Amino acid sequence: MKRGFLNSDKAKKALSSTSPKVYDASADKPPLVMKLPYGKVANAGRPEGYNSLQVPIMEMAAECLDHPEGAVLYTSIPIRRSRSSYDDEPTGWSECFITSSVKRQIYETVGFCRAPPQPERVNFRVSLTSDMGLGMFATCSLKMGDLILSERPLIVSPAATRVTFQKPSGFTDEQYTQAILFEREKALEECLKRMFPESRKAFYALANSHTEDGSGPIVGRIRTNGFTVGKGFYDKQYGETSGAYSATCDKLSRINHSCRPNTTYTFDVASFSFQLRAMRDIKSGEQLFCSYSTVTLPAADRKRQLAPYGFQCTCASCSGDTANSDRVRTNHIDLISVNRAEYDIWAGIPRYLRNNSILQSSLDLLSDVENEGLRATAFYPLLLCTISEIYAQLGDTANANLYLGRQEAWKIARNQEPFKWDEIIAKAKRNFKF
Ligand SMILES: [Zn+2]
Repeated sequence: MKRGFLNSDKAKKALSSTSPKVYDASADKPPLVMKLPYGKVANAGRPEGYNSLQVPIMEMAAECLDHPEGAVLYTSIPIRRSRSSYDDEPTGWSECFITSSVKRQIYETVGFCRAPPQPERVNFRVSLTSDMGLGMFATCSLKMGDLILSERPLIVSPAATRVTFQKPSGFTDEQYTQAILFEREKALEECLKRMFPESRKAFYALANSHTEDGSGPIVGRIRTNGFTVGKGFYDKQYGETSGAYSATCDKLSRINHSCRPNTTYTFDVASFSFQLRAMRDIKSGEQLFCSYSTVTLPAADRKRQLAPYGFQCTCASCSGDTANSDRVRTNHIDLISVNRAEYDIWAGIPRYLRNNSILQSSLDLLSDVENEGLRATAFYPLLLCTISEIYAQLGDTANANLYLGRQEAWKIARNQEPFKWDEIIAKAKRNFKF
């Protein structure tokens, strides 16, 4: 057992006889979530003298949706019977540690629980990279929007670490964090016990970049490999971000990071599965990447977001002079909105009086945006739409359709309709005094 760092004998005595108290949120107004440590933490693990919580966690019948409000439960999605086997559910089950309200949100989703869509053929492999451990590679050429993988997560649990008990007397903040990590690990052990042996083996085969910060083997792997799923279900009392969930997969969790990703993933609550799709045309043999960080942030902020994963991104946007990359990323909404406003003015000018430089400036902007890997952002389709309309105005139907087609591919890849831009463009026009 790892040793903690409670040094005073007096405090040890007090703790050995006192179990931590569960929070009464209304009375104590606790912090809702806790920021977790990473890297090498001195004296990581359960603090010495810490008496573990004995909070019963409800485990209800799979069909039950009227659990008490606020109850936390273990459940398999879709419903798993005691005699179920993989033949019954070839896409597998997700072991979930969720609140009663989230379970209801999932079950009330229109179309739940349909089968996940599947690609026509296997079009990727997982194999060793030269410098990033395992990774995913395309095994055939892919077009933007193509479905690469559809997968149910192995495990789903709250994304943020929620504070559920008061700081024991005599504990430092660091010890408190370690105790919370310990409780979280213990709570998730039940999910692993519920898995089929194949799924459990797949989970423990995943990488873990949190071996020295007090995270247990389950929490560490979830922190390393989990994808946030916040759209469609989350704990409303914590808000959309802190109330979100983290989903860890067998295959999808093997994809490596790039700030210039060539894929995008979405989570479909109805089929309770991720879809990984090509965000641009991809050649057979290319490694597939998604972004673990927010692509619209400057390099320094992305570096901070990536630090807990234990690697430094060396993509072209992170190395060397990052000034131009940062400019495009952080200003891409303004750049695309202004471009659209310029287009609107240009389109209103009689054709024989026009200067057609708008085409080249729009293509240059597209090249900048694409080079920075911003294809999955909400404003990218507006730029495609503008370019398609410029070509249409110039009578180039072939190119107009080409860019229109890419806008359609974006909708498929992101599984959503583009924004309503009218208001945003009107604002851009006001700001830039067109
Ligand atoms: Zn990078």
